[in-house]
Amino acid sequence: MTGPEPGEPAEPAKPAKPAAPALALEGIDKAFDGIAALTGADLAVHWGEVHGLLGENGAGKSTLMNIVCGLYSADAGKVSLDGREVRVRGPADATRRGIGMVHQHFKLVAPFTVAENVLLACGAALPSRTVAAAGEAIAAAAAELGFAVDAHANVAALSVAEQQRVEILKLVILGADILVLDEPTSVLTDDEADAVLRLLRRMADAGKAVVLITHRLREVIDHADRVTVMRGGRTVAAGAAAAGLDADALARLMVGETIGQPYPPRQAEDGNQEPRLEIAGLSVHRADGGVAVDDVSLAVHGGEIVGIAGVGGNGQTELTEALYGLLKPSGGTVRIDGRDASALAVAGRRRGGLRLIPADRYAYALLPDLLAYENLAISGVPLGRFGSRWWLDRPMMRRRAREAFADNQIVGGRPETRTRLFSGGNAQKLLLARELAEDPAVLVAHSPTRGLDVRACQAVHETVVRAVEAGAACLLISEDLDEVLRLSTRIGVMSRGRIEGPFPAREIARAEIGALMAGHA
Ligand code: ADP
Ligand code: MG
Repeated sequence: MTGPEPGEPAEPAKPAKPAAPALALEGIDKAFDGIAALTGADLAVHWGEVHGLLGENGAGKSTLMNIVCGLYSADAGKVSLDGREVRVRGPADATRRGIGMVHQHFKLVAPFTVAENVLLACGAALPSRTVAAAGEAIAAAAAELGFAVDAHANVAALSVAEQQRVEILKLVILGADILVLDEPTSVLTDDEADAVLRLLRRMADAGKAVVLITHRLREVIDHADRVTVMRGGRTVAAGAAAAGLDADALARLMVGETIGQPYPPRQAEDGNQEPRLEIAGLSVHRADGGVAVDDVSLAVHGGEIVGIAGVGGNGQTELTEALYGLLKPSGGTVRIDGRDASALAVAGRRRGGLRLIPADRYAYALLPDLLAYENLAISGVPLGRFGSRWWLDRPMMRRRAREAFADNQIVGGRPETRTRLFSGGNAQKLLLARELAEDPAVLVAHSPTRGLDVRACQAVHETVVRAVEAGAACLLISEDLDEVLRLSTRIGVMSRGRIEGPFPAREIARAEIGALMAGHA
């Protein structure tokens, strides 16, 4: 804004009417099954800005924006566009009003090409409903946005970042001028994330209103003009200017309290005790004959966390799967509490006290369509913990689940809620409650906090540390170096299938670990 030039007479008092926000939400309430997801939430987004919508998992960010784009209807509150109150009657109505959203889980149809997807989603906005017209619209929009997209590529063959670009193209072709992106960077590499954030800036500079949903502090501080913070379904800071906000203050707003530092577990008293997990000469070959895990030997004692740092794709997944019994190694042995488990399948290893916390909980550990209490009981059922195979004691399953919910502060649903409806952090707590229920001997944790917000990470770390202090041996395989440094008593580095170390955490510096991760040291 430029004020009057010096010497120039000031304008006569003509109060400038402040431009109405492009999008304003006031006092929005929304409950699911009687549980409040939003309580009096507010948000005002102006033309020409990137507005960061920040909050931890479960804060209500997606729900609020799903109301704006017509997927949910609010129980109470007011939605205004350009200062005029509106009722968004559904997704098509939202599109007509110029509102477009890229959802956290993309809505592309996999067997179709990019052009076919655009035709499907934007047919009405094209000059004619043909693949050719879609192709032309894609080329024009892509040129406008400054990237290239192959309109004839099959969506299934695109990378996540490319699929996301197609989603953004769809909004531009539909003529959206209020754009909402739900956690657009959480699935991208750093470089891809930078590219999409720069793209959002260009769209805001072109006059559009952009909402960037994220749980990453740095992202809003570095890339948003203003920030709204949500916590527990309420707006706790509305439209603060991002410049000059400090990360600690924002983190406190997000979680409502200072976050304590987690701590490595107390060292096991006596160093002579037998290891609870022993890996000797373990190798795993890939289907193509390449070596994924190369002659790994390692021992983990009760009461310690051995952290394995490394860049993803260096054999971590294969190591995890081989330890859990999902993948057959080409050589080597695995012993749990001194007993050879090499020939055992998953169930046998679990009986021996092995437990797994994976990053991809729905691929390995939880069934999304079961109710929460069923997922909590599922591994106890074959052991006869909940009645016989002819009669399941569901009241007992529910009772145990209620206790687990209270003990582990699982919120955002009840034991009878379908598991897929829990936020990532709460689903992970659910999994931990189950996996750590019976004093495990050995805990293999593979990126146990990937994609979780600060507080959920803290809860996962504390739970793992408690289990280890109670005597479990933990092998923590993680791509998050901070996590490894925070929790581990000893640290190894995995690179191209081999593990260097582990070294006592006190004796290895971050820079040395970095060099080993890069494969040159
Ligand atoms: P965020 O996007 O900030 O992580 P969400 O808006 O997804 O948070 O969720 C807010 C709360 O609403 C959570 O407790 C979540 O479990 C609940 N919730 C969201 N969608 C549904 C739904 N369709 N049914 C039941 N509960 C839901
Ligand atoms: Mg969300």
